[in-house]
Amino acid sequence: MKKKRIYLDYAATTPVDSQVFSVMRPYFTEKFGNPMSIHAFGREASNAVEKARQTSAIFFGCDPSEIIFTSGATESNNLAIKGAAISLVNHQGGSKPHVITTQFEHSCILNSCKKLEEQGMAEVTYLPIGNDGLVKINDIEKAIKANTLLISVMYVNNEIGTIQPIKEIGKLIEKLNSNREQKIIFHTDATQAINYFDCKVDNLKVDLLSMSAHKIYGPKGVGCLYIRKNIRVTRIQDGGGQEFNLRSGTLNVPGIVGLGAALEIAEKERKKVSKLVEKLRDHMITRIMKEIKGVKLNGSKLKRSPNNANFIFQDVEGEGLLLGLDIEGVAVSTGSACSAGDLRPSHVLMAIGIPEEESHGSLRVTLGKYTTKTEIDRFIKSLKEVVARLRKIAGK
Ligand code: PMP
Repeated sequence: MKKKRIYLDYAATTPVDSQVFSVMRPYFTEKFGNPMSIHAFGREASNAVEKARQTSAIFFGCDPSEIIFTSGATESNNLAIKGAAISLVNHQGGSKPHVITTQFEHSCILNSCKKLEEQGMAEVTYLPIGNDGLVKINDIEKAIKANTLLISVMYVNNEIGTIQPIKEIGKLIEKLNSNREQKIIFHTDATQAINYFDCKVDNLKVDLLSMSAHKIYGPKGVGCLYIRKNIRVTRIQDGGGQEFNLRSGTLNVPGIVGLGAALEIAEKERKKVSKLVEKLRDHMITRIMKEIKGVKLNGSKLKRSPNNANFIFQDVEGEGLLLGLDIEGVAVSTGSACSAGDLRPSHVLMAIGIPEEESHGSLRVTLGKYTTKTEIDRFIKSLKEVVARLRKIAGK
């Protein structure tokens, strides 16, 4: 009989919750209207989108008019970074704003910042990250200049799971803004934080926040960007003027309905799921560190998402480990799924000071609400066998 597959890559994506799927379903078939249409079919779809906007607004503690639906966090991050920077340039008579971000952001933030630099639209500071995987508030404060107008720091890192001090950064920016004529805009990529942490925008004191539904048991290809009322963002896509003229294109109605439902469930289940995955994750870390020699955990032990563990196995190639585990029916990752297949060392591990040779032995294991102890124990059994086999082949 074929062994049941084990999925331990919840940071890459999550299965759609069956409750989410059942509320989405009618919007593929009988309720298929275009929300821009005036007739009953259109109104039915438009009402569903507005209901999801309200649910999302409750989740983030904001006004529904501050939620823009997008195709996911990549698009939200592009719109936040490029849209805010272009708007600043337009309102400053063409002078370049200074943007601060960190070296270990997701590639959609880093590449958006690079694009702005190439086009002469902004100067960007990429802040280093400590060995513990945390950005230092002091470094942010020191990097701020008179023309600093946008700061973007991710809430939870997608590879090592470390939690950045968003509330403290928000407080610092609020304090500095009280004496500045041109206010600094604060953006966070909260994609990996939604399931586990407080995302009320006023508690975080953020002006812009990005997320993707497929990381929270919702569908792929849909997400949103929160934009605080008084913050100017210039659209980067032109068309029919949907989403308050900030994101043209026919709305992904089933996806948006699914996003709303997924956010509602995430809020309800947060405490229970956090407790469950943290307990299993800690059991896994304890057993791996005890039962396998030459293993290191990357990033802070305490300030990390409850579902994430990122290890380095000495004398083993992470790719070999991943493939060996895949044969055993266990799905894990060496880094982020977006850079899988890319054999360059992870920019996240480099940013936290892991030497290149060591970084090749990295393995990211991310748990989710459907993970069981039986799965974790079966994973550890396979892991021990694969590590031993690879070390033997390498003559170690
Ligand atoms: N930011 C972070 C932190 C992520 O983890 C991801 C997904 N790996 C993204 C942005 C991009 O999300 P999507 O691929 O859904 O656009």
